[in-house]
Amino acid sequence: MTEFIFNEPDLRDEDLRLIRDQVRRYVNEMIIPNGEAWEKAGMVPRQVFRDLGKLGLLGMRHPVEYGGSGLGAMASVILGEELGRGSFGGVTAALTVHSDMSIAHIAHRGSPEQKQRYLPAACAGEKVGAICVTEPHAGSDVAGLKTRAVRDGDGWLINGSKTFITNGIHADIYIVACRTDPTAKGSRGISLFIVDRDNPGLKVAHEFEKHGWRASDTAELFFDNMRVPADALLGEEGRGFYYIMSTFQNERLVAGAMSVGQCGKAIELTVDYTRQRQAFGQSLWDQQVVRNKIAWLAAKSAAARSLVYSCAQMIDEGRDTVREVSMLKAYACETLQEVVHGCLQLHGGTGFIVGTPIERMARDARILTIGGGATEVMLEEVAKRM
Ligand SMILES: Cc1cc2nc3c(=O)[nH]c(=O)nc-3n(C[C@H](O)[C@H](O)[C@H](O)COP(=O)(O)OP(=O)(O)OC[C@H]3O[C@@H](n4cnc5c(N)ncnc54)[C@H](O)[C@@H]3O)c2cc1C
Repeated sequence: MTEFIFNEPDLRDEDLRLIRDQVRRYVNEMIIPNGEAWEKAGMVPRQVFRDLGKLGLLGMRHPVEYGGSGLGAMASVILGEELGRGSFGGVTAALTVHSDMSIAHIAHRGSPEQKQRYLPAACAGEKVGAICVTEPHAGSDVAGLKTRAVRDGDGWLINGSKTFITNGIHADIYIVACRTDPTAKGSRGISLFIVDRDNPGLKVAHEFEKHGWRASDTAELFFDNMRVPADALLGEEGRGFYYIMSTFQNERLVAGAMSVGQCGKAIELTVDYTRQRQAFGQSLWDQQVVRNKIAWLAAKSAAARSLVYSCAQMIDEGRDTVREVSMLKAYACETLQEVVHGCLQLHGGTGFIVGTPIERMARDARILTIGGGATEVMLEEVAKRM
């Protein structure tokens, strides 16, 4: 089996090396052998969150005093990339939405009490998080969301709905974006709230059957006069859009890292397959056009990976990375499409058969140019900054 088409990054930091080894071991011992069963179940078992929590892999960016490790962006990149190499996109989605996209809001903006209440259990994988922004009529256009939160005595009353929510079925902690000021222009009147699973006004309505990411559960949520206390407000009232956009930078970095991990895995599988598959009296690999094609995909994947790593470094240096992160989200996720479809092509009919890793990877890859910032939206962010 071909291992690692990319050179191993020179991780000078001992913590990062340890993270990579731990995730890689867990992927090989638990995710690859069991991923297919989780795809069928439509859900990643709770034990997986607990296992990764025990290994300290779910709160790597979060403050040490609340159960995290206080590490930088490279930690998220290593996690995303190694999980991506695991080839089960749904598992990667469920875990990284929890660690890097939903709970991250509490780590970034929560009060000390909110952090104390939620973060230790989330970092330990005892409680699972979901981020609830998208609505039936507002996806890419986040500022168009309509779910309303209205002051009600000393709390808030929330009405509305969300759709396509990863971990929506089995989350314990929902970060919900609501419009709190309908008179404020577009993005200005949005606030974030923390909603507990057992809130009687929360209805988890529907689990979607999906083209890919089948091991992650994706739900529709309804809020029917859902009352939340005053201390459910996350950060400042009216600043939710800004919070969503700033946490998106991390989400997009992780999406790029996942993509790069998946590119590496797809290419490794294809090098192996074409080396052993005989046609016209030689292996497919012996055809120059075949191996050049794979080498080209590897070169593009390596370029995407460099972009991911350099953005992580820029984030850790505290620089403004909106333009570069938008470039990497667009480039890495589009490169992934080219890689998985090119690799599937070289698997011939085998690549079209359900149950082969490349078939699943091609399905899983599709969402990555849509979710978390569609390619067109990312390129607009780049163009605005040119
Ligand atoms: C499996 C899955 C998991 C998800 N998980 C979550 C989650 O956990 N939380 C959450 O809040 N949301 C989640 N989403 C929602 C996801 O983020 C949205 O689907 C995404 O933002 C796109 O929004 P939309 O589907 O409404 O598409 P639209 O906004 O309607 O866009 C449709 C298409 O139009 C094009 N387009 C959009 N805007 C522009 C533009 N400005 N210029 C040019 N072209 C444009 C793009 O090609 C885009 O794909 C998930 C979605 C899926 C399918």
